[in-house]
Amino acid sequence: MNIEGTVLVGPDFEPVEGRVLIEDGTIQEIEETETGSDSIVLPAFVNAHTHLGDSIAKEAGAGLSLDELVAPPDGLKHRLLRSTPRETKIKAMGRSLQFMEQTGTAAFIEFREGDVDGVEMMYEAAKHREIDPVILGRESEAAMQRADGFGASGARDGDFDQLRNATRRAGKLFGIHTGERDPTDIHPALDLSPDFIVHMVHAESLHLERVADMHVPVVICPRSNLVTNVGVPPIRELAKRTTVALGTDNAMTNSPSMFREMEFAAKLSDLPDEEILAMATRNGAEIAGLNCGLIEPGRDAKLLELDGDSDNLCYAKDPVRAVVRRAGHSDIKRVIL
Ligand SMILES: [Zn+2]
Repeated sequence: MNIEGTVLVGPDFEPVEGRVLIEDGTIQEIEETETGSDSIVLPAFVNAHTHLGDSIAKEAGAGLSLDELVAPPDGLKHRLLRSTPRETKIKAMGRSLQFMEQTGTAAFIEFREGDVDGVEMMYEAAKHREIDPVILGRESEAAMQRADGFGASGARDGDFDQLRNATRRAGKLFGIHTGERDPTDIHPALDLSPDFIVHMVHAESLHLERVADMHVPVVICPRSNLVTNVGVPPIRELAKRTTVALGTDNAMTNSPSMFREMEFAAKLSDLPDEEILAMATRNGAEIAGLNCGLIEPGRDAKLLELDGDSDNLCYAKDPVRAVVRRAGHSDIKRVIL
C-alpha cells in the first residue's frame, strides 16, 4: 500500500514530495519523487488527554465554575455519570471514538472515571474500533491494574504515594492534573515523580525549573482552560523546558478534535508550527509509549491524508502552517489507522 503527496517527514515534519511505502502496517520507506498529487500526508494525531465518559453531557453546565463542573465526587459531571445507564455511557463514548477516528486521531490517553467498571466500559467502547486507547484508571489500585496506568485527579484530592508506587511497580503510566485552578498543587504533584502532568496553567518560575530538571512531560489543554475560565497555560515557557503535548480534555466542554486544539495552541503561543504539530502527534505518542506520530521507516503507519486542493486549503503557501492553523475535518481525504 502507498500513499503519496506532500509528505511531512520525520521529527521536523519536513515537506517532501513523494510516496510513503507501507507494508504490514509499518512505514517501510519514504520515496522522494514527483507525484502530481495535491495531498498533504501527515502522521495521525495522538490526543494526550481526554475524559470521554462525559460524552453523555455535551455542553451541559454552561457558566459553572471548574469545581462545580468536574470536581469529584459531586461535580455536575460525576452526578450525570452516576445517573446514566451503563449502556448509554458505552454508546456515547463509542460515538466520540468514531468522531476521533474520522478527524484523524490514532490514539488517546484517557483518564477514566468509574473505577474498574469505568475502565471495562472504555475497553468495550473501543473493542471494534481502530483507534488505540491508552486508559488510565482512577479511584483504586484495581482500576490501575486493569488499565494502562493511573490518572490522578490532583494532589489536593488525596494521598497518592501508595498508588504512585504501585503504578511504578506495575511498570505502568502515572499521570496527574496540576496547576489548573491555582499553583498550590504543583509541587505536591511533582513530588510524586509522575510520568507526565496535565494543565500547568499556573506554573511559576520555580515550577518551570523543576519541570525542566525532572524532564516531566506536560499535557496542555488550552481550549478546556478557556471554557473553565482558569487562564491560559504558559505554552512557550513550557515548550522551552520540556516535552509538551496537546489534549482536548472533557468531551462535555470541547469537541475532541485535534485540529481545533492545534489552531488554538498555535495562535495563543505563536510558536513555530512544527512545534505545535509535534504536540499533536509525536509528543503524545512519546508520553504514551507508542510507535506512531512520526513519518519515518519503522514507525506504525498511522497516517492522515488531507486534500491540499480543498476549497479551504488551496493556494496555501506553507503546508505545515496550513495543517496547524487552518485545516479541519472537511479537508480529510483518508485516515489510515
Ligand atoms: Zn482532565
